[in-house]
This record gives sequence, structure tokens and C-alpha cells, in this order.
Amino acid sequence: MKLIPYFRNQQDSIMKLIEELVVRESPSDNKAAVDRLVEFLAGRFEELPAKCVVHRTKNFGNHLQVEYGGGKRQVFVLGHSDTVWPLGTLKRIPFKVQGRIAGGPGIFDMKASLAAFYFALKAIRDLKLSPPRRIVALFDSDEEVGSHSSRKLIASMAKKSDHVFVLEPPISPHGGLKTERKGVGVFHLKVYGVAAHAGIAHEAGANAVEELAHQTLRLQRMNNRREGITVNVGVVQGGTRSNVVPAYAEAEIDARIRSTHQGSELTKKIYSLKPVNPLTRLEISGGINRPPLERTPQIAALFRRARLLGRELGIELKEGSTGGGSDGNFTAALGVPTLDGLGMVGDNAHAVDEYIDVSRLAERIALLTRLLTLN
Ligand SMILES: [Zn+2]
Repeated sequence: MKLIPYFRNQQDSIMKLIEELVVRESPSDNKAAVDRLVEFLAGRFEELPAKCVVHRTKNFGNHLQVEYGGGKRQVFVLGHSDTVWPLGTLKRIPFKVQGRIAGGPGIFDMKASLAAFYFALKAIRDLKLSPPRRIVALFDSDEEVGSHSSRKLIASMAKKSDHVFVLEPPISPHGGLKTERKGVGVFHLKVYGVAAHAGIAHEAGANAVEELAHQTLRLQRMNNRREGITVNVGVVQGGTRSNVVPAYAEAEIDARIRSTHQGSELTKKIYSLKPVNPLTRLEISGGINRPPLERTPQIAALFRRARLLGRELGIELKEGSTGGGSDGNFTAALGVPTLDGLGMVGDNAHAVDEYIDVSRLAERIALLTRLLTLN
């Protein structure tokens, strides 16, 4: 059975499901909304039938586990049900198809991916393909806000798996897979100075804002584009009024690294910042939140297998790296070969003109199906 024509024949039902998922808005911070989407998804997967386990959480939407097929060994498919779009976005940016382009909040990241996985399983059932491993998927509900409530679950499921396929969007616009992702750190710097009247007792004060300015420049100098290290002082605040020497200022810092080693070195550097004005005091917190997805030989080998499958389907897959993190960072850091970017082709994730290319749905779902049935 030729898979691409098979999926092309089902284009209308695939688009219908994508629409059903997009119109069920699911911002990370709205548990009730995410739960409604998860319940709908579980209903669809159960029809296949696939076994669904709903992992209930208190503060975020429930995480959905889907299992299909049997066998001792398993392959892990990782995705997320949440989006960055607040409830009501749909009124402003409705689901819309124009020619090859379909748009809507969260369509590319990653509601089309969830639909693709459903149709891959359906193909496995209808075409009586026999996957050599049990297929276990997890769609968590808090990926867009750091996966704090799903991290443990992701790790425990990954450890039992031979490899991990991540349904995040591919590299735009050509649709390449992601074999390297930067690790992400978040740091917080608090500066304590000494308050004083700016006119009467200026010399008695220690200006926390001035000190933060010094530290901001030091932090920015830790950028090393060639090595792939970025440090961004993204938020600063401090002071109370112009006639008071400020006693307090603070900054939030985003850091990205390519290797675990870079991560520990950079963390050490940030923690060893010393005040320029000895009358001020620095308090530093935070650290690397997502480890980097490093392109190990195992990951490179998994990509080569995917590229071969792609060629059999008539598509030429590229690979690449990205500065953004995903749940794949966690699984790769555990040493489980992880292939990321297996979502649908499109562009502009997290932007108002987010879209998928409808004409390339069939080839990507075919690729996913082939990967799931890989020996
Ligand atoms: Zn995503």
C-alpha cells in the first residue's frame, strides 16, 4: 500500500480533525479548557481502539497517555496539548483554510501533529501494519510553560523506550528534522543596596539600579555566539521614586547553551558575579531548566534511518538545530535516542500567522507511520 496516496484520500477527514482540535482552545494556564481538549482526544483514540490513561494534575490540564499495540519493547511518542494562545484568540484568528495554507491558534504547534498521530495509528490498524514495538504516546499539558508537572512522567516513560519521536514542528520552511536543541536556563538576579535621600544624604546610599546596570553588562558579555551560548537580560526593574537612592533592583535572565558542559560552566560564572559597589549585595537564583538535546551518534543514526524512509516515500529530509527547547531535551538528556521535529510542515509558531501546509500533510503522516513501524 502506498502510504502517501492513502493519506491523500483522507485529506478531508484529517483537516476535519485538525479543525476540531484547533477550535478547542487550550492555553497552558487554563486547566478546564485543556481538560476539555484532552477528553475529546481520548474519545477519538479510544475509538481506534487505543488504550488511554488520563494522568490527573491539579494546576495544569491532565496529561494524556495513549497506548497502541503490544510487545515488550516500546517506542515513545511525545507531544503536548497546550498552546500559547489565551482563550478567545479564535475570535481574532479563526481557523481558516486558503488553498494550501491552513491557519489558526496552535495549528502548527502542535494540534496538526496530534491529528497526524491519530491518523498514523488509524493507518496501522486499517492497513494491518504490524509495529514491532508497543507505541506509547504522552501528550502533556504544560510544555509551553516548562513541563514542570509532566517532567517526571516524561522521564519514566522515556526510560522504558527504545527511542523517542517528538511531534514538535519541523524546521521551517523546508520541514527538516531537529537533531540538536539548545538547553534553556532561567536565572534571577536580586540586587540589594542602601536607600537614602537623593538630595540630602546621597553619599549614604548604595544605588541598586547602578549596580544592576554593571551586572547587566557583565551578563551580556557572557554571550558567545560562536560557541552557541546566549545570555539575555530580558527584564529589569528597580527603584521606587527619583528622589530616593534605590535599595533594590532585579533582573530576569534567559540563557541558552549547546552542551551540558557549557551549561555548568555558565551557571558557575553567573553564580560567581560579585558586586562592583561593595555596599551592595547580590542574590542569584535559578539554573538550567531544560538540558540541551545534543546530537549524539545514536541521534544521528536515528536521523539517517528517517532520511532513508523519507527517500522511500520520495521526500528529502534535512536536519538542523534550534535555540528553542522542547520535551525532547529531557528524553535526550537521559540518553534515549530522540528525533524531534516530526510535526507537520508549516511556519510561524507562537505568531498570529501560524500555519500548516496542507499539501504536505500526507507525506509527513506517512513518514510518521513508517517510523512507528520501523524494525
Ligand atoms: Zn510545541
